[in-house]
Amino acid sequence: MIEEHVRDTLNWAGNYEYRAETLEHPTSLADLQRAVAAATRISALGSRHSFNDIADTPGTLVSLDVMDPAVDVDEAALTVTVGAGVRYGVLAEHLQRRGFALHNLASLPHISIGGAIATATHGSGNANGNLATAVVGLELVTASGDVMTVAKGDAHFDGMVVGLGALGVVHRVTLRIEPSFDVRQDVFTEVPWDAVLADYDAATSAAYSVSLFTDWAGDTIGQAWLKSRIDSGSPVPGEFYGGVAADRAYHPVPGVAADHCTQQLGVPGPWSDRLAHFRLAFTPSNGEELQTEYLVGREHAVAAIQAVRTLAPKIAPLLLVSEVRSMAADELWLSNNYQRAGIGLHFTWKPLQPEVEALLPELEAALAPFGMRPHWGKLFAADARQLAPVYPRFDDFRDLAVRLDPEGKFRNAFLDRTIFGTAG
Ligand SMILES: Cc1cc2nc3c(=O)[nH]c(=O)nc-3n(C[C@H](O)[C@H](O)[C@H](O)COP(=O)(O)OP(=O)(O)OC[C@H]3O[C@@H](n4cnc5c(N)ncnc54)[C@H](O)[C@@H]3O)c2cc1C
Repeated sequence: MIEEHVRDTLNWAGNYEYRAETLEHPTSLADLQRAVAAATRISALGSRHSFNDIADTPGTLVSLDVMDPAVDVDEAALTVTVGAGVRYGVLAEHLQRRGFALHNLASLPHISIGGAIATATHGSGNANGNLATAVVGLELVTASGDVMTVAKGDAHFDGMVVGLGALGVVHRVTLRIEPSFDVRQDVFTEVPWDAVLADYDAATSAAYSVSLFTDWAGDTIGQAWLKSRIDSGSPVPGEFYGGVAADRAYHPVPGVAADHCTQQLGVPGPWSDRLAHFRLAFTPSNGEELQTEYLVGREHAVAAIQAVRTLAPKIAPLLLVSEVRSMAADELWLSNNYQRAGIGLHFTWKPLQPEVEALLPELEAALAPFGMRPHWGKLFAADARQLAPVYPRFDDFRDLAVRLDPEGKFRNAFLDRTIFGTAG
């Protein structure tokens, strides 16, 4: 077991200082079991890419980053089992070498699998569930230090995947895979909002994954990124709702060089080099940005986008860029897409946390009529009182957490505030 002092060290964005005293890096499952069993309060730490206190604890943090990733591909079952501390980009390269693929990736490939599935991290695509929907099995260390394995179809499995770190430390994850596929990425600029909003479902079905980057102001969407599967048989979109086909590579944030972005300009390449927006080889140690994201049902897409556009004058001074993505419905209790296909209204903010936090309640009030569910790993203001009514299985999740962790070993300020509703 490797131990280091962690108090006051920062998350990736540099906007959160961990309050835990110690960070432990177990080197084996037995080590991890001992650490969990011995702790009075403990929390799993992924790759530190969340923007809030979700991964913190008043006790000990535990990271799986030095554990053996032990990637185990089952070609017959089309699954891969891998250590939860492994980053998606590393797994993606491994799978691509073996001729396999994941169905989707988030914008950044550096995020850990355990951390991403715990918060329902997603990419885009009308038919694509979030990354947690690929999980078919989990092996976790529960509060007692015992190992528990669950598989899709087991009782409570759907409540355990998006676990917010509240149920135990996930040691290994089994994910659904498929044969490798190629993707091309085409960018269109200055796409008229009216044309897209008049035909929203068709516009966001124009490719395997569609992302709309906007500052909400004006009549046009700054950039539309279309990721098309070469094997889909669908014609590659030569035009997109009156937008201008890009003749150079773009970064989502206007004026920033595209060097760190994955290949665009319609050049086909493996899914592992196209589905994320940013290259794995570019390893940002920290970011000069904050993020917030609200997910609403797809039936409210147009109204929710219009509601945010009316707030553009208040948003603009704080914003680097926004991204609108779409996700398929799923059955995972705390997924932002639980039983509803949705869109994600994402905000990459300048690092102005007090000003951003002052605006969030207004944004949330504007989106509340649409059953807004905030991304668990980003900045938001809503608490358990507001979140319980929009998650039909909220109480079941609370009961499950109490059953698996009766002494509240994995409880932290985030869970007290957003799930248990017991924060002071
Ligand atoms: C630049 C950037 C880009 C991003 N892009 C996207 C995006 O495209 N789409 C999107 O949806 N989100 C995105 N996010 C948000 C990010 O995916 C989530 O915040 C994610 O949870 C971060 O994972 P992590 O590994 O850093 O986990 P952490 O932030 O360290 O932890 C998050 C949660 O996971 C739990 N956890 C971590 N490991 C384990 C484990 N082994 N067992 C049990 N629980 C565990 C923690 O306890 C905590 O509750 C982005 C964030 C950044 C900084």
